[in-house]
Amino acid sequence: MQKEKPMNELPVMNETEGIVLFHPHVPEKAIENVTQVLHSRWIGQGPRVAQFEQEFTQRFAGSGTSIAVGSGTDALHLSYILAGLQEGDEVIVPVFTCTATNIPFLYMGVKIRFADVDPETLNISVSHVRELINDKTKAIVCVHYGGLPCDMDELHAIAKEYNIPVIEDAAHAPGATYKGKMIGEISQFTMYSFQAIKHITTGDGGMLIIQDKNLVPKAERIRWFGIDRSNKQNGTWENDITEVGYKYQMTDISAAMGLASLHEFDEILAHRQKLFEAYKVGLKGASGITLIGDHSPDRTHAAWLCTALVKKDRTGFMRTLREKRIESSQVHYRNDRYSIFGGRRDDLPNMDAVEENYIVLPLHTKMTLANVEYICDTIKKGW
Ligand SMILES: *Cc1c(COP(=O)(O)O)cnc(C)c1O
Repeated sequence: MQKEKPMNELPVMNETEGIVLFHPHVPEKAIENVTQVLHSRWIGQGPRVAQFEQEFTQRFAGSGTSIAVGSGTDALHLSYILAGLQEGDEVIVPVFTCTATNIPFLYMGVKIRFADVDPETLNISVSHVRELINDKTKAIVCVHYGGLPCDMDELHAIAKEYNIPVIEDAAHAPGATYKGKMIGEISQFTMYSFQAIKHITTGDGGMLIIQDKNLVPKAERIRWFGIDRSNKQNGTWENDITEVGYKYQMTDISAAMGLASLHEFDEILAHRQKLFEAYKVGLKGASGITLIGDHSPDRTHAAWLCTALVKKDRTGFMRTLREKRIESSQVHYRNDRYSIFGGRRDDLPNMDAVEENYIVLPLHTKMTLANVEYICDTIKKGW
């Protein structure tokens, strides 16, 4: 990859849109792979899905197993079922995340307790998890916000005391590491999303990494109505379904796209990390703005989002950037503000403190270092 060229050599400064916040990464090879699948006999869940799962495991799962599904949300819902969560159980979840992390609990009648953010990283606050945990708590969910791993040792220490699982939403964090371990091999369940703007995209899609091999057959059944497809294909299916499943599988069309991106994953990650580093350098000493998650020596950042806190006037900051044809946005909002979660706004002092100040800057594989410099220079001129 050449330094000053975006990946795939596509135009960066789009004439009409300027520097956009997100851009899907679709390798040329993905188009080829999909064409092949479309010419074949398998377009639904077939050999490409199996290959994608296998290669994903090799890259991210340690000794775990990868289960490909139709979306990251499917993967989360599946993990919540596999964790044995039942109506009336309580879970501790991050307040600051994509709603997808928490919506499946509403399907299940599981009671959500929102944990505050850590003010340094916007990841889940370990001390607040400690305050919230009680005998009814049946799981802790964490999100590696922006791509920076949460405090996994501390979360696991708490979970161990209560003998409950930690479920990782790693939608932002494929390729991130924590104390030398790959995200994906640390907890019982780790979920990934292949939605349009994630590191790897299949249009929509997701993956669940499961560490306990005993849960894999159940995961495969629940993914497909509760039916054991392997028995069915062997012709020995006894024609009964004993547990309620869903239609959560991935198709070979999606897997063909996913494989192409997985094969480029190291370059995708390196490009994103290089841009993130350029933001660090470019905004060093800039007044009124600080980057989030830019100094944690024991873990590596997967650089999905570049998030900053602006001291004053976020609306003015966004307007100034827009005038220079740079897009910015909040991306995620505190979940407790939504009516579906009760709409009551919990008393979360750290979240309250950053709510009006956080902002996400453009970061994707179509950008160059020169684009980041331009953005940083614009910011340094003030707003
Ligand atoms: C994208 C995302 C999801 C949802 O994934 P889908 O594939 O869109 O269902 C879940 N959690 C987080 C933190 C995300 O960013």
